[in-house]
Amino acid sequence: MIRFEQVSKVYPDGTTAVDDLSFEVAEGELVTLVGPSGCGKTTTMMMVNRLIQPSSGRILMDGEDIAGADPVELRRRIGYVIQQVGLFPHRTILDNTATVPLLTGWKKDRARARAAELLDLVGLDPKVYGPRYPAQLSGGQRQRVGVARALAADPPVLLMDEPFGAVDPVARERLQDEFLTLQSTVRKTVLLVTHDIEEAVRMGDRIAVYGQGRIEQFDSPAAVLGAP
Ligand code: ADP
Ligand code: ADP
Repeated sequence: MIRFEQVSKVYPDGTTAVDDLSFEVAEGELVTLVGPSGCGKTTTMMMVNRLIQPSSGRILMDGEDIAGADPVELRRRIGYVIQQVGLFPHRTILDNTATVPLLTGWKKDRARARAAELLDLVGLDPKVYGPRYPAQLSGGQRQRVGVARALAADPPVLLMDEPFGAVDPVARERLQDEFLTLQSTVRKTVLLVTHDIEEAVRMGDRIAVYGQGRIEQFDSPAAVLGAP
C-alpha cells in the first residue's frame, strides 16, 4: 500500500533527517514510528502527503510513485491528525468535522450527516457535541474530533503525529483503546508517530524503531520487546 524505496531527506541547511529508508506498510496495517525527538519520524510522515519532498528515493502508494500525483488529490486520500488539532474556533464541532467533505464539494446536508456519523463513531454524541464550539470541549474530546474530521472523507490512509500526546495519561489510554476499536472496523492504513514506546507497542501491528534518521528495527511488538 505504502512503500518507501531508499528514501533520504536532506534539508536545505544540510541536516540529514532520514537516510536511505526502505519499508512497506500493508493495506489496513497500523505501523507505529517510535524513537526520540529529532530522529526523522515527522519528516517520514510528511513526505507521504508531500508536505515535504524526498531528496532521493521514491515513495509508492498502491504501486504509483506519489511524486507524479496531484497533491490535492493525494491529500484527499490521506487523513491527517496532529497533536494540536486545529479546529476552527468559530465553527461548531459538527461543521469542523465536515470541513473536508465541504471543501471537496459535498452538499451541506450530506456533509453534516456524514459528520454526525463520524462523531458518533468516535464516541461523541452528535446531538450533544455537534452544536458546541471547540472551546467547550476537553482536550481529549477535541482529539476525538480531530480523528473524526480526518476520517470524514473516508481516506484509505491516516497519518497520525503524536495524536494523543496532548492529553493526560488516563485519557490517553482511553483514546488509544477507542482508536483501536475504531480501527478494527474502519481498517485504515495508518502511520502513527509517537515517542512513547508503550504507545507504540500497544497500538502497532508493527513498529518502526527509529535511530538517527534510520529505522533500526521494523517488526511486531513481541519481537521489538524481545519475546522469543
Ligand atoms: P522527529 O519527528 O523524530 O522529532 P523530525 O523529522 O522532526 O524528527 O526531524 C528530523 C531532523 O531534521 C532533526 O534533526 C530536525 O532538527 C531536522 N529538521 C526537521 N525539519 C527541518 C527543517 N525544516 N529544516 C532543517 N532541519 C529540519
Ligand atoms: P486549515 O489549514 O484550513 O485550518 P486543517 O489544517 O485543520 O485546516 O485541516 C483540515 C483537514 O484537512 C484535516 O482534517 C486534515 O485531514 C486535512 N489536512 C490538513 N493538512 C493536511 C495534510 N498536510 N495532508 C493531508 N490532509 C491534511
